[in-house]
Amino acid sequence: MLLYLLIWGFWLTLAVYGFWYFFIAKTFQPLTLDDLALTWRLHKQQTGCTTSRVHSLLTRNNEVVGFKCECGYEFQQERLITQRVRKPSVSFGCSETSRSFKSSVRKLEEKS
Ligand SMILES: [Zn+2]
Repeated sequence: MLLYLLIWGFWLTLAVYGFWYFFIAKTFQPLTLDDLALTWRLHKQQTGCTTSRVHSLLTRNNEVVGFKCECGYEFQQERLITQRVRKPSVSFGCSETSRSFKSSVRKLEEKS
């Protein structure tokens, strides 16, 4: 019975890993402002954060890899599979958040 559970657990792990590999890892893209806005929106949903703008953007090799929220939360993309930069897409669902995110980015750029 124990052996049966071990084998079952092994296959389950493999299935989850396979699912992650094909559906998440393969669709991984470099971060765009829309991606960041989505992540920021998720962060606000999950933590109840009520800030209206980001504190700063985190960059590496002139590429935006993350952001720092005014509440102190930091998001950083750990790895970039491809360096190809996507054009910002307008398919992002919550355009309101996207807009406010972009305007705060613009404010940051004006400051520097
Ligand atoms: Zn926050």
